Amino acid sequence: SPTAPSILSNGHFASIGAEGDAASYEHGVQVIDGDKEFNPNLSKYLSLENVTSAGFNYHLISVFGSQSTGKSTLLNHLFGTEFSVMSELERRQTTKGIWLSKNKKQGEAAAAERMADNILVMDVEGTDGRERGEDQDFERKSALFALATSEVLIVNIWEHQVGLYQGANMGLLKTVFEVNLQLFLKDKHTTHRSLLFFVIRDFIGNTPLKNLQKTLLEDLSRLWDTISKPAGLEKSTIHDYFDFQFYGLPHKNYQPDQFVTEAKKLGLRFREGHRDLKRDALKGEFSEGGVFLPEYHRRIPADGFSHYAEGIWDQIVNNKDLDLPTQQELLAQFRCDEILREVMIGFDEAIVAFEDKQAESVRLGEPEVLGGLGVAMRAARVKTLKSFETEASRYHKGVYQRKSAELQNKVDTRLKALFHGQLSAAHKSGIRDFGDSVSGAVKDGQKRGGSYDFAEIVTKEAQSSLEKFEEVARSTLVDGASWSNYKQELSLYKKELDEVSARLRRDEMRRLATRVERWVQSRLGESVGLEFNALGSGRAGGGAPENGEKPTEKGFWDRIWNLFEETVLDAERRFTDRASSFDASIDEVDVGLWRLRRKSWGVLHAKIEEEMIEGNLLLKLRENFEDKFRYDEAGVPRIWRPTDDIEGIYTRARESTLTLIPLLSRFRLERTGAPPPLDRWIGHTPSTATSADEEDLAPIGGVDEHEGKSLEEEMTILSDTKRQELTVRFKKTADGVYVEAKRSAIGGMTQ
Ligand code: GDP
Ligand code: MG
Repeated sequence: SPTAPSILSNGHFASIGAEGDAASYEHGVQVIDGDKEFNPNLSKYLSLENVTSAGFNYHLISVFGSQSTGKSTLLNHLFGTEFSVMSELERRQTTKGIWLSKNKKQGEAAAAERMADNILVMDVEGTDGRERGEDQDFERKSALFALATSEVLIVNIWEHQVGLYQGANMGLLKTVFEVNLQLFLKDKHTTHRSLLFFVIRDFIGNTPLKNLQKTLLEDLSRLWDTISKPAGLEKSTIHDYFDFQFYGLPHKNYQPDQFVTEAKKLGLRFREGHRDLKRDALKGEFSEGGVFLPEYHRRIPADGFSHYAEGIWDQIVNNKDLDLPTQQELLAQFRCDEILREVMIGFDEAIVAFEDKQAESVRLGEPEVLGGLGVAMRAARVKTLKSFETEASRYHKGVYQRKSAELQNKVDTRLKALFHGQLSAAHKSGIRDFGDSVSGAVKDGQKRGGSYDFAEIVTKEAQSSLEKFEEVARSTLVDGASWSNYKQELSLYKKELDEVSARLRRDEMRRLATRVERWVQSRLGESVGLEFNALGSGRAGGGAPENGEKPTEKGFWDRIWNLFEETVLDAERRFTDRASSFDASIDEVDVGLWRLRRKSWGVLHAKIEEEMIEGNLLLKLRENFEDKFRYDEAGVPRIWRPTDDIEGIYTRARESTLTLIPLLSRFRLERTGAPPPLDRWIGHTPSTATSADEEDLAPIGGVDEHEGKSLEEEMTILSDTKRQELTVRFKKTADGVYVEAKRSAIGGMTQ
């Protein structure tokens, strides 16, 4: 009745404290209220009672029976609950809708007498009551709800009602049977059973319990026969779905002590049970042992129970066909998603910091190997997948497996990115460090006096670099992940190390080449310079001139060319020795020598040009001339007398010196009468020379055909014009010397 004064008379959930403290739930929680509304606080209640994390280790019992048959009283006695009980004076319906409370007696008794863990008891509104009139709707709906969720249905019945086949209880049981068939219509292959536990109240004992049992079972079988069964289930019997137990309880008011004693004994039945020989094979009855058989359990994990119950109730209240397998699958999807989100929070906490750091270092272009990454990744992966498995594997297998794969994919996608980011950082920084340490070691070697073994440095640093890379990669591996290997990355790393080594070796070759070139330059500078200086003396070539031959000029270019060949040969030996000490390939050495020859030619050419600057040359011609003119064959200075053939001596000396000009104009070997074989001497461009090897080389006529300059031209030191100019200027200088000599001869006479 809406006007009932009891605080529990109708269900308005607002009466429950917002923060849901335990005190708000002293009578348990009203799962379904009088308006058939589901109470969303059920999950909060289960959390407060520490049931949520119990997995499958919980049990559900519902009590059924006519109104005011002492059901709530019985539950309170058995389980220490505080379901409200009708007061003796008012005789008014108390329990509205469906209430649920956790067993309060768990753990009270000694281990041997202990009840099962986490028993949840549902007190279902009494049926057939005056208060609800003939409305069978709620009775049907609550029966369906109880059957879909509970393992044990306690049927409360007065002893004197036993055998009254038309009695109110029979109507209720018929409903239970019908909805049970409806429930398993969609789930025909279920092995699922329920226990109908008959508690016979006000049991006097005149008729033995055995007989009452028999009567009840016969009535139930007859009842089962009358209900219409779905196709395929016509032959089914009541025992295909239900097990039975019976217990007689004395009158609570007339035999209060016995009532308490018996209630206590009855409570001992609420333990874990197992099928064994105590079963009465004919009737499916258990006389002893626990009531909770595994096959009664609905296999809804505790943390999903409230969501499941809500879904079930929603289907029931909207008169939809209740399809338990579908409900369980929906529940599994919902819960697996929730659990997935929860475990991902933990995963994020462990991993996001690394992801941010990595992204930042990539953004800044400063690849950084993250310390502790491998440990964190492995721990996060194991923990995340394990937590998910623990929580979610209790749900629908197919859904769980799908979601588990989804989670693993999520986790592995992120870890894989981190892994590759780490390898990429190790690669970039490793290569950079390798180059740095090689140059560092070379510099150290140079500081210590230039003796260092380049090949050894490169080998050692490459080895250590490779080890470092592998160490980072190995420590970042994640067991079990399909992507967790670094074979490819390692071989790429090796490849780049090789490339960098080759580049460093090329650089070192260049440094070596530069050193050798400088050496060539200073050697040639000296020796060629001496040859040119010797031109200043008409006889410096050695020995006394024979038949007017001028030893200085004779074989001048041959000597220069020989000096050049010898010097470069020496340089080539130096280069080859050193280059082979750092594992340069034959090809690389070939290219180096080729470059050395070309550059050396450039050095010689430049040196010759320097010597042939007009001023220098004029000076040398003058010296050469004066040497011939002012000294006699014995090298004694001449004192001019008027009788001397000054003009004849002058003309011979001048003509002799003048022959130097065409000689010096062209680099030409006396022994062959041709320019030196520069093209053969330099050789072909090696096929392995790269454009980088060629770009800093000056073209050489007669060697680089495409230059359009012949070897003859390359060897031309003075152009015709230059020669003529030089001749004119030299003659003027010589004339000056002649005039002076003439004057001094006359002057000597006048003295
Ligand atoms: P419910 O409506 O089935 O939950 O019944 P209640 O537990 O509220 O009890 C209804 C009335 O029956 C109360 O007045 C109780 O005192 C009374 N009652 C409780 N237990 C017994 C019993 O074992 N025998 C009898 N005859 N009355 C009982
Ligand atoms: Mg009650």
